[in-house]
Amino acid sequence: ALREDYKMVEVVLSSPRGFCAGVVRAIDVVEECLQRFGPPVYVKHQIVHNPYVVAELEQKGAITVEEVDEVPDGSLVVFSAHGSPPEDFEKAAERNLRVIDAVCPLVTRVHNEAKKYHREGKKVLLVGHHGHQEVRGTMGQAPMTLINDSAPLSEQDVSADMDWPADSEIAVITQTTLSVGDTATAIGAIQERFPGAVVRNDICYATTNRQDAVTQMAGLVDVVLVIGAQNSSNCNRLREVAEANGTPAYLINGPDEINPDWLVGCQRAGITSGASTPEVLVEAVIDALDPEKVTFLEGAEEDITFTLPRELR
Ligand code: SF4
Repeated sequence: ALREDYKMVEVVLSSPRGFCAGVVRAIDVVEECLQRFGPPVYVKHQIVHNPYVVAELEQKGAITVEEVDEVPDGSLVVFSAHGSPPEDFEKAAERNLRVIDAVCPLVTRVHNEAKKYHREGKKVLLVGHHGHQEVRGTMGQAPMTLINDSAPLSEQDVSADMDWPADSEIAVITQTTLSVGDTATAIGAIQERFPGAVVRNDICYATTNRQDAVTQMAGLVDVVLVIGAQNSSNCNRLREVAEANGTPAYLINGPDEINPDWLVGCQRAGITSGASTPEVLVEAVIDALDPEKVTFLEGAEEDITFTLPRELR
């Protein structure tokens, strides 16, 4: 136990949690490249936002870089699951790099929608987080305006820099890993200002299911631990969703980051993990909490898998 003066009675495990199909595929792409072509395999941006996953692949010979310019001429480079702007592919072509794109197919779908709406002459609004890698990739696909939902988003935010008539042709797309609730609010505000806006909800199945599950779990426990990285969008949203349901929630990479003070007076801890978090880290946290019992909740079934990129089939 983490402390002498109390004992955790129960750990409740949220379901589904952990890896999504896009993350499994992205990791498989790097593994497959290492096996087929041998190290080093360069990876542009963390393949998925989890330091444990990145470190494991680096041990096998992957080298993570932030910019295409850092990859030596003629090398093999995998682009991360979050998607990349066209300029990264152009830079890679200039440098004679061999690119294998591990972008999640659900992100590619958003890219394609953005291009289609732009071709149709619509003004494209992207609801997302400034600075996130996925947003960088999506913004590169066509001209668009970013609606940053990292508030709660007020109507003022929406109208701030969009001096367009109410009947403008508007299309709204979203980042895949946003809070379902906050996004609905943001989209509602946009629709109020532009009643004819075409709206897509691009929040992916994995994000939605994990948020639904944590909502269900939060009411059953005294504290929620979300296992995952600080730079993971979907992990941060899970923590926020748990808190919005009235339960204190903390985002930690693993057992070493548990602060025992959080657990004082808690009999039940709920655990979930983001789409980029390996299950081994969840197991390590359960071990550290050392509860009297572990309860597994039931949630949405997920049977989605994605095939590897053509170059690796
Ligand atoms: Fe794809 Fe969703 Fe996973 Fe992102 S979180 S990689 S969009 S399945």
